Amino acid sequence: MEPPCDPRLPLDEVLERTAAARAELGERVLILGHHYQRDEVYRFADLAGDSLGLARQVSAHRDAEFIVFCGVHFMAESADILAADHQTVILPDLGAGCTLADMADLPQVQRAYRELAELSIDPLPVSYVNCTAAVKALTGERGGTICTSSNAEKVFRWALEQERPVLTLPDQHLGRNTFHRMGIALAEMTLWDPAQPLGGLTPQRAGAARVLLWKGHCAVHQQFTVAQVQRWRRQNPTLRVIVHPECSFEVVQAADLVGSTEFIRRTIADAEPGSAWAIGTEHHLVNRLSAQYPDRFITTLTPFACQCATMFRINPRYLMWVLEELVEGRVRNAISVPEAQARQAVVALERMLALS
Ligand code: 13P
Ligand code: SF4
Repeated sequence: MEPPCDPRLPLDEVLERTAAARAELGERVLILGHHYQRDEVYRFADLAGDSLGLARQVSAHRDAEFIVFCGVHFMAESADILAADHQTVILPDLGAGCTLADMADLPQVQRAYRELAELSIDPLPVSYVNCTAAVKALTGERGGTICTSSNAEKVFRWALEQERPVLTLPDQHLGRNTFHRMGIALAEMTLWDPAQPLGGLTPQRAGAARVLLWKGHCAVHQQFTVAQVQRWRRQNPTLRVIVHPECSFEVVQAADLVGSTEFIRRTIADAEPGSAWAIGTEHHLVNRLSAQYPDRFITTLTPFACQCATMFRINPRYLMWVLEELVEGRVRNAISVPEAQARQAVVALERMLALS
């Protein structure tokens, strides 16, 4: 839905009005911004971060009446689940979803559990935070936990101690890359294809798996290839490659460093002047780092990669609109996870926060 403001309004005016509304709302509002947000939105973030960092901010800011989340839907849902009763979470554009989160819908996950139960297999769900509140609730209900790209290793270590096979979902790459780094052999990980009966496996195969990896992926991160890594290395042998763990196994193996968006930001911020970096993640973050640190050579792994179209849905006009509406006492685009779902999901999220 377009916000009811003139789409021809010049950007300067939009930014001015946003700043004025923001100033008027004062401490009643906390604006959170994910690192992939475009600059015209990111500049208004009181706090910026990766998924884990932003989730933590919610409980740390109980005094804010409204949390305006400049990120995607699953992040705003997590914020709502972790928020106190007196806090309202707002997502400036409700269409800002996540195609990775959409790859595991609740009926598919329930079906997987039914099929596995027939074989007396009850895997521990470890759900990437990029999933719906409904899947987070199922995760909590089944004794599992959530993870993000910055705490996956700690969370997976706990999961392995639970003496149940582990089901990671929905991103196969985060699961495979993290478990491999922890010393789990690729042969111990089995892909679960939700489009096939029993995940496309024989009962023997399903029963033998130590780790089941849900067959999901982030389309943005699948655009990075080993050939791109090699090309940059040929051009500059001193250049280092840093990628997000949603990239494929081969790309992560070819890279020098792997980590969350905050890890990438911090690594570049701490890098020596004159150093050279090729980054495999969404290009708004890469472009921002490149502008912030002109004394370092910073490039995206490929200049042809598509941006995250859903993160990009949070545009400055929507932000202006929700803030001006709040000034007028109208709450727009509130995210409200149903009570019963939130009760189960918070168990999984709090388990994650305790493990992080
Ligand atoms: P981070 O938790 O690293 O910010 O990742 C979120 C995400 O959606 C990456 O595509
Ligand atoms: Fe989802 Fe990928 Fe966009 Fe991250 S980059 S929000 S995983 S679609």
